[in-house]
Amino acid sequence: MVAASRAKERYLFKRKLEDIEAAEGRGTELVTLYVPPGKQVSEVTSYLRNELSQSSNIKSKPTRKNVMSAIESIMSRLKTFKRVPEQGLAFFVGHRQSGADQTEMVSHVVEPPEAVPTFLYRCDSRFYTDPLREMLREKDVYALVVIDRSEATLGLLRGKRIELIKNVQSLVPSKHSKGGQSARRFERLIEQAAHEFFVKVGNLMTEAYLDLGDLKGILVGGPGYTKDFFVEKEYVHHELRKKVVDTFDTGYADESGLRELMEKAKEALSDLDLMREKKIIQAFLDEVKQPDGGLAVYGETEVRRTLEIGAIDTLLISEALRKTRLEVTCPNCGYSGEMTTLNGEPGNCPECESDLSVVEASDMVEELHEMAERLGTKVELISGDSEEGSLFWRAFGGLGGILRYRVS
Ligand code: ZN
Repeated sequence: MVAASRAKERYLFKRKLEDIEAAEGRGTELVTLYVPPGKQVSEVTSYLRNELSQSSNIKSKPTRKNVMSAIESIMSRLKTFKRVPEQGLAFFVGHRQSGADQTEMVSHVVEPPEAVPTFLYRCDSRFYTDPLREMLREKDVYALVVIDRSEATLGLLRGKRIELIKNVQSLVPSKHSKGGQSARRFERLIEQAAHEFFVKVGNLMTEAYLDLGDLKGILVGGPGYTKDFFVEKEYVHHELRKKVVDTFDTGYADESGLRELMEKAKEALSDLDLMREKKIIQAFLDEVKQPDGGLAVYGETEVRRTLEIGAIDTLLISEALRKTRLEVTCPNCGYSGEMTTLNGEPGNCPECESDLSVVEASDMVEELHEMAERLGTKVELISGDSEEGSLFWRAFGGLGGILRYRVS
């Protein structure tokens, strides 16, 4: 289960990306700049100074003007940094189309959650966000285990990066009986040694993976039947066993086997996110179908009511939900309250019909997230990429919950 705060962080980053990606220039006049960590600010400035003089050759006068002002804007933002931050920087600056014949300056400076890989300058009619999109994808952590009777290797998969944790060799003798010993006795010794080796690997897995809060799943590989035997017989801690995605054939059980395992599991992994989403929605629908409504709640009023008293175990929110939560007061009669709107407009006072004023406005997904975090409620953001996810959006308005207990 993804921790609520991390899921929120990820959501906010995704929203920011959507904002950036929505901008469109009239010409090729939106400037994207990625600066990796370790780059000198002065180096970047002189690069931009050069781009600035190049862009004075642009034929179209409005484009030239917009490109030059974007570059100048980046240069002045850059001055506020003594050095490039730990993970680098990304700039998205330019004039986007805002009406039939109008443009509006947009400017985003992003300190990304992961290191910017390479220096990049681009001027186009759209901002270039692929490197940031990549970071969004790279958050998932999987355990990798390859095992046969002679050795085992444990690792972690973070996005596309493999980290080796440990390689252990077994003491299981190969199956050639030595002269003098009875074959049956030798067989028993082998099985005993194999058993001890599997116990040891199981313990290493517990040590390495059990406390990883964000572990999404465990992939097990290796040549032959050993890996399946290892998973089926209870060598893996029961909490970890629930997370085993599948077993995959690999040629080796050493470090190279980890890479092979990742390649083999690719398809299974891309289905996994959707599977997870399907399962959650299915659990929700199963409750809805109960004659007494089961443990499901939906509709904003009902969800808020049960969330506030801490009765919701898992809160389900569609990422497509775009609403604003307002805290409002009436300057005329002193009324105060909260409301949800689509357009962020507070409207009129329910008491005296005067125009309400906004005390605080927040994105509703974010606001619900914060409330859930305070109350120890799990949050699942539903993408809508699965059939179930889009049904949840259409039929339930993208907001629902599974209760811990029935609430009257
Ligand atoms: Zn009023």
